[in-house]
Amino acid sequence: MNTRTLERVSYALLAFGLLAALAHVLVDSATFGALLYGLGAIVVAVTAVASARVNSPDIRVWGGLLAIGLLSAASQVLADPARGATAHFAAETLSLGVQVVLMLGLLVVAQRRIGREPLGVLADSAIVALGSWLVCWILLLRPLFDTSTDGAATVTLRGLALSLAAIVLLLLATLLFGDAENGAVVWLASGSIVASVIGDVLWAVHDAEVATVAESLRSAPYVLALFAAAGTLLHPGIRNLAAQGPYQSSRPMTWRLVIVTSGLVVPIAVFALTDAQDTRDRVVRSTAVIVLACAVLLRVVLAVRSNTALQQRLVKSAQTDALTGLPNRSLMLEHVDTALRTAWRDGRQPSVLFIDVDRFKNINDSLGHAAGDDVLMAVAGRLRVVLPSYCVVGRIAGDEFVVLDPRATGPGDAMLLADRVLESFHEPLALHQGDVFVSASIGVSTYRPSVTNSADDLLRHADTAMYRAKESGRNCVAIFDESMLESVTQRLAVETALYRALERRELRLVHQPIIDVSLGEVVGFEALMRWDREDGSTVSPAEFIPIAEETGTIVPIGAWALLEALTHLSEWIAGGWCPRDATMAVNVSPRQLNDPNFVNVVSEALTRAHIPARQLWLEVTENVMISQPDQALAALTKLCDLGVRVAIDDFGTGYSSLSLLQRFPIHRLKIDRSFVAGVADKPDARALVRTIIAMCDSLGLDTVAEGVESVHQLHTLGELRCAKAQGYLISHPVPPEQMASTVALLSDIGAWPRIRNPRG
Ligand code: C2E
Ligand code: MG
Ligand code: MG
Repeated sequence: MNTRTLERVSYALLAFGLLAALAHVLVDSATFGALLYGLGAIVVAVTAVASARVNSPDIRVWGGLLAIGLLSAASQVLADPARGATAHFAAETLSLGVQVVLMLGLLVVAQRRIGREPLGVLADSAIVALGSWLVCWILLLRPLFDTSTDGAATVTLRGLALSLAAIVLLLLATLLFGDAENGAVVWLASGSIVASVIGDVLWAVHDAEVATVAESLRSAPYVLALFAAAGTLLHPGIRNLAAQGPYQSSRPMTWRLVIVTSGLVVPIAVFALTDAQDTRDRVVRSTAVIVLACAVLLRVVLAVRSNTALQQRLVKSAQTDALTGLPNRSLMLEHVDTALRTAWRDGRQPSVLFIDVDRFKNINDSLGHAAGDDVLMAVAGRLRVVLPSYCVVGRIAGDEFVVLDPRATGPGDAMLLADRVLESFHEPLALHQGDVFVSASIGVSTYRPSVTNSADDLLRHADTAMYRAKESGRNCVAIFDESMLESVTQRLAVETALYRALERRELRLVHQPIIDVSLGEVVGFEALMRWDREDGSTVSPAEFIPIAEETGTIVPIGAWALLEALTHLSEWIAGGWCPRDATMAVNVSPRQLNDPNFVNVVSEALTRAHIPARQLWLEVTENVMISQPDQALAALTKLCDLGVRVAIDDFGTGYSSLSLLQRFPIHRLKIDRSFVAGVADKPDARALVRTIIAMCDSLGLDTVAEGVESVHQLHTLGELRCAKAQGYLISHPVPPEQMASTVALLSDIGAWPRIRNPRG
């Protein structure tokens, strides 16, 4: 039988039990009752055998349930008043046995499933159990001693069984209050237990003459209990009944509170509203109330303690970084604040080091986030080891660590510490994945009353200095001074103005002609951007392009530049001012290449300007091939498929390897100005340029020398067989409207007669 069928049959047994119990209430006949008990006992026996075969349950749970079922059925049969006093005594003994087995079984199950807060659960359950026992004593047990016609031994047995029922209730409550997930099987078993306890209570109510309860009504719960026990046995969940179940996602606190409160209020009310009958009663009542009060006290103490512990945990987790266990930003600010407030006393200058791990993103991207976490933990560990114990180390964001030296007496101390940190990174970090070398950029700021107003200032200044360290090539230390603040403010102003520059038409293009060295003819142009600001100043692209790149504004600006440059070329060709096959070179930033729409932007610009793709050169720097090689490769490949050609700008100044040159679809190298500057008079520079040109020849790449400023340089480049050149010697970048005259002037000079390429 599969699991679903077993579940269905087990629920069917429960439903049948309910119907049978109802029928028993309606048909008040002892024979019918005996018939139902007999049937119940048989069903329990049969399901026990079936369960052992299909469910292979825990043998203790299985045996316990079977014993309870059989014992209680037998006890019901024997309890029939017609069978006489001895049978009645035997029935009470069996019923006590049922409670004992129940108690032991529940003890096993509850202790496994009690969960994370055992003492609290036990205390709550104890309150409920003690409270119900007190009510049971006052209302049922004590009157039984007066009313029962049975011998004292039978009454005592009865009392014992009812008291044990309170313990059973305690364990049951423990089970249900615990924070393990209570599956259907737990509820089935609980239903069976509760039904049988209800039966016991109804019998006691009747016998104690508290109220008259018809016999069929008193016995009906036992019928339900039997069938519920059979359902429990058959339910597939019985396999895991005694196992530690999964934790509940949220605990039913409201119900627990209602039950525990009633477990306290009801007995106190009953206690207050009834009088003690005799000394024995008084002793029992007082003892029970004292024990109950102790349980409540214990509960309160436990609640207060766990609340305090929770609060402490919350405060700690709000102030520390979960990964490294170091103080986080808010706690670090508190530490800095304390250090600043006490600094005046002993003339100290608390200092902050702002440490940023260099190229951390690369580590995450290449080795994975788990390795990234390991690196951060290793860095935290190393900082703690190399820094004096009075320094406070914190992690305030991703790869940013902050060190506070509260005892520094000046910038010198902080610099020493920073050097120590840099030096500590000369040793590799040992990770699971292997050794990893990292470096860091460190910004230092030292408290000065004239500049530092708050802890936040000190931290921010160190952060600013750290950026300067990054700009200076990383793996170094920069110390904060006020001029940095100015440049930050200025940068912010530029950022904001740049957003508006395009729509305010403050951007324009100038063009620098590129000539064929051997023929001396203009063969193409490079478009260079200019930004005329409102105040009349012109900002250099070297200044604003990096900002546009960082903020993403380069994407719309770059798209505009492309269309604008191609439109200019098309006008010049149409005006006959330049050769029909002249080319236009446009600079492209990495950010533009990563834009998924870039290929469309390029092809649309070509279409709108009516320029064939072969006449467009895109200039990218070597860094493009390193920072996000896959995306860049994909975009460049698509562009090449369009027919557009790609040039590497400023070649020789980046870090690219020759293998990348092979992998990427490249058609031209532009030899950087710094090499061209020395080509005429420095043998080293000349040797380098010669090598680059030779490499390009063998790879079939075009060469352009950038920044040619003297005739001598151009001559030498001619000798070295450099194909093309651009530079101030030939022409400065000029506005589009001046291009016609510039090209005309250049063609008047002709083929640069005295520097003619030996090939020409
Ligand atoms: P680049 O692409 O290497 O451009 C050449 C730079 O060298 C230009 O500077 C040009 O004016 C300058 N130059 C040309 N001939 C000489 C010379 O003989 N001597 C000297 N000393 N300099 C010369 P510019 O216009 O300031 O542009 C700087 C950089 O800004 C460009 O370098 C390029 O990387 C970037 N850039 C310019 N326009 C754009 C653009 O529209 N988009 C993007 N993404 N970057 C651009
Ligand atoms: Mg360029
Ligand atoms: Mg360049």
